[in-house]
Amino acid sequence: LEKQTIAVVNPATNQEIVKVDMNTVEDLNEAVSKANKALPSWKGLTLKARAEIMYNYRDGLKQNRTVLADLIQAENGKTHGEALAEVDKAIEVTEFACSMPQIATGETLEVSRGVTCRDQLEAVGVVACITPFNFPCMVPNWTISIALVLGNAMILKPSEKVPLTALKNAEILHTAGVPKDMFQVINGDREIVEAICDHPEISAISFVGSTKIAETVYKRASQNLKQVLCLGGAKNYLIVLPDAHVDMTASNIAASFTGCAGQRCMAASVLVAVGDCESIISKVKEVSMTITPGKDLGAIITEESKNRIETLIANAERDGATVVLDGRNISMEGSYVGPTILDNVTPEMEISKEEVFGPVLCIMRVDNVEEAVSLQNQCNYGNGAGVFTQSGSLAAYVSEKLSAGMVGVNIGVPVPREPFSFGGWNASKFGTGDITGKSSIQFWSKKKKITTKWNPEDQINWMS
Ligand code: NAD
Repeated sequence: LEKQTIAVVNPATNQEIVKVDMNTVEDLNEAVSKANKALPSWKGLTLKARAEIMYNYRDGLKQNRTVLADLIQAENGKTHGEALAEVDKAIEVTEFACSMPQIATGETLEVSRGVTCRDQLEAVGVVACITPFNFPCMVPNWTISIALVLGNAMILKPSEKVPLTALKNAEILHTAGVPKDMFQVINGDREIVEAICDHPEISAISFVGSTKIAETVYKRASQNLKQVLCLGGAKNYLIVLPDAHVDMTASNIAASFTGCAGQRCMAASVLVAVGDCESIISKVKEVSMTITPGKDLGAIITEESKNRIETLIANAERDGATVVLDGRNISMEGSYVGPTILDNVTPEMEISKEEVFGPVLCIMRVDNVEEAVSLQNQCNYGNGAGVFTQSGSLAAYVSEKLSAGMVGVNIGVPVPREPFSFGGWNASKFGTGDITGKSSIQFWSKKKKITTKWNPEDQINWMS
């Protein structure tokens, strides 16, 4: 039977780069069975020994920083600077994993005279990680080093749009000393994802992608009694108060909604202007006008996605939004949408309900902080949110009221740095805990509680 292939297309040129083999469900089954066979020797290493290998991996990522960024740029279409930044974040998460022998220590306590309880962390087994197109290196690396260092074997199913970075990542891991069967890449789409959800020997699954699929994967894999964490889409509200620092606020918001061409789950989506914020809004426009597609603004992943974004803008205009800056109809090679700002957007409009996933900022206008908070709270997503003000007490008040997992004060993209964890609320996440940081340790391990008594002559009962 001839292998099916996926064409990898560079969104900056719309030219095919290469064809990559798609895997079959049989390939997945074989990968899981190989992982299962090799798992005991990997689990048998000490945590410190596995961390040693993760140090090599971290060095490998550093050495291949530019090679990875070139691949990311080629298959995803983001700028080289953005590609380098995601490799750097992958390195940061790997450093967190390297520190696991210092963090994942468990507790020991003498609970009765001569009786000790202690925690022991054990690997979950063979786990899978399903990832989206928008961060071909960073998102897989939210999980790779943490899951591996804790003794698991991982199957990575990258987005079929960006398989090349994942394959290079595998090579770097194997060179670092991770046994081949402990980390395998399986390329495919829906059929493979469903097979992962149903596979009896895969014990835990992390998924990052759009909300609809995140929810489907969460339900299907949980139904099969797996440990599951699914991160979904987003719509991030930034509340701007009139006292905010004009230049800093404007440059942060412009960078937030245009960075990665708006194709990131922490991108600013809605600017909620409280009262008179005219000077800030006009500065956002001024800064955004200097951001040039193809130079400091990356491409949209496919022509189809570009058309979808342009239709959302057109429908918003039809429904009464004012187009302050129009990034449609760019005449250049590749799939580009320029920075777009829509004013007078209302919550009823389609554009307020859909995740746009493009460089589009919607401005909503309100009279006071309560209304601003209420708009954000009505949104069903809850990944990031933020407030711009110079008042500490107002910032504290708004941060308290926002319904989102990651909140920023005077920050356009409030992604927590390690060891603070990444994860949203509401329809932006299904499952408990976060994907990085300390709660990821719980997700990728099982806790065994061992109670010990070595004094048979003492008639100590359990509660003494
Ligand atoms: P997507 O949901 O289309 O794809 C994600 C993964 O699911 C891919 O590996 C894909 O092959 C697979 N998939 C696609 N269709 C499927 C189906 N019907 N059944 C099962 N699996 C399927 O997402 P995308 O377009 O690659 O990425 C963009 C989305 O990811 C956005 O919604 C964005 O907000 C979200 N995202 C969220 C976070 C976060 O941390 N919350 C981070 C990055 C991206």
